[in-house]
Amino acid sequence: MKSNDIRQTFLDYFKSKGHEVVASSSLVPGNDPTLLFTNAGMVQFKDCFLGADKRAYTRAVSSQRCVRAGGKHNDLENVGYTARHHTFFEMLGNFSFGDYFKNDAIAFAWEFLTGELKLPKDKLWVTVYNDDDEAAAIWINDIGVDASRVVRLGDDSNFWAMGDTGPCGPCSEIFYDHGPDVAGGPPGSPDEDGDRYIEIWNLVFMQFDRQPSGELIPLPKPSVDTGMGLERLAAVLQHVHSNYEIDLFQNLLQAAGDVTGIKDTGNTSLRVIADHIRSCAFLVLDGVTPSNEGRGYVLRRIVRRAVRHGYQLGVKDVFFYRLVAALVKEMGDAYPALKKEQARVEKILKEEEQQFARTLENGMQILNQAISQLSGKVLPGDTVFRLYDTYGFPVDLTADVAREHDLSLDMAGFEQAMEGQRQQARAASQFNAVEKLSIDSSVGTEFVGYDNLHADADVLSIYQN
Ligand code: ATP
Ligand code: MG
Ligand code: MG
Ligand code: MG
Repeated sequence: MKSNDIRQTFLDYFKSKGHEVVASSSLVPGNDPTLLFTNAGMVQFKDCFLGADKRAYTRAVSSQRCVRAGGKHNDLENVGYTARHHTFFEMLGNFSFGDYFKNDAIAFAWEFLTGELKLPKDKLWVTVYNDDDEAAAIWINDIGVDASRVVRLGDDSNFWAMGDTGPCGPCSEIFYDHGPDVAGGPPGSPDEDGDRYIEIWNLVFMQFDRQPSGELIPLPKPSVDTGMGLERLAAVLQHVHSNYEIDLFQNLLQAAGDVTGIKDTGNTSLRVIADHIRSCAFLVLDGVTPSNEGRGYVLRRIVRRAVRHGYQLGVKDVFFYRLVAALVKEMGDAYPALKKEQARVEKILKEEEQQFARTLENGMQILNQAISQLSGKVLPGDTVFRLYDTYGFPVDLTADVAREHDLSLDMAGFEQAMEGQRQQARAASQFNAVEKLSIDSSVGTEFVGYDNLHADADVLSIYQN
């Protein structure tokens, strides 16, 4: 089953169960300035859970475009390292706003996977929140899942929250066992981080609204929010063990291979590029433009990472924006706006790429030299700062290169260098002010060098997340 058909099958199934089909909302959350990007299907329904927004329906289904590249859910560092994490992905979700609760949520999910899609029952594992006896009983007694494949887990994995505040609750997750050829252990085991047992679907039993103080206030009515990664489900249905092997990614990888001259679609840099074109193109589509602050800076960082991976592959020309056409081919029918806005998206990405290309080569030479001269395992903070300040290397990009050499960054040293420059900038601007007063000249000592210092707090907070 092709990715596009899986999406449709999901929407159709829940429509047949009385759910309103709701279009994906923008990646820029319209109702929540505290959230960097839409990171789950429930974001556009946040106020429905809180009872503040009443709709004509109490059941909804959607396929929501999501970006997890900053903030509470940040998978940027996972891309290229796991078979299942993307910066951009689609989340299939069904929702109940005070309508059905645990029983139906579990029954629908099971019927969809094992009835509609015919997945083998013995390859599915289930987790529940540690004290959620009710959910465990439904899985074991009503659904008939073998108790040996029902695992109880704690807050880290089985209490879902969109962000630090807002709707949240205990959850129950469904995993698929890709078999012994793939490394990794079942959920809750020491080697659960492998790609063998893959989490495909999270059923969240929305019960609380977390306050800034941390207090959990019960929602007006218990609700349901579920999310299943379309790409992970496609991997299962297409009998492949990596998201990069599904139809959609194979076609994007092919296109990435064409523009970079790399034939091996299993190449890690090529995979990173194929991943990043989706987040970058959709972020631009949703009105984000590369900048030195906030959302725009996250976009800039992703573009620059992709371009750096192109450089790694030996690409000498602008290439990244040329993948938009392939993306439109894959996803333009599901997202007609992407088709319509193709030229604008290409233009913005091309300009960003061209701008970075001017300093990339010199920066890479400096970085490679620093790495080759290094005796320890830590890249000095002043090198990281110089790359950041002079060559436009976001810290996470330098970290990405360092990680490939098994090195880490001296972040304390970086911050120190940043602080040193901040003080110089302050002194310089005071000096300029004094000078202005005394000679009232238009000599042109305008200070423009440190624009991107605005972004420093952001860089560090996102990087540390
Ligand atoms: P994981 O533990 O694998 O990082 P998660 O617990 O962070 O996933 P949820 O927040 O529960 O994920 O999101 C619901 C579903 O969305 C997941 O079960 C998975 O199928 C999918 N998903 C989550 N993060 C990603 C991602 N970065 N790329 C692709 N799919 C994802
Ligand atoms: Mg995660
Ligand atoms: Mg998880
Ligand atoms: Mg989860």
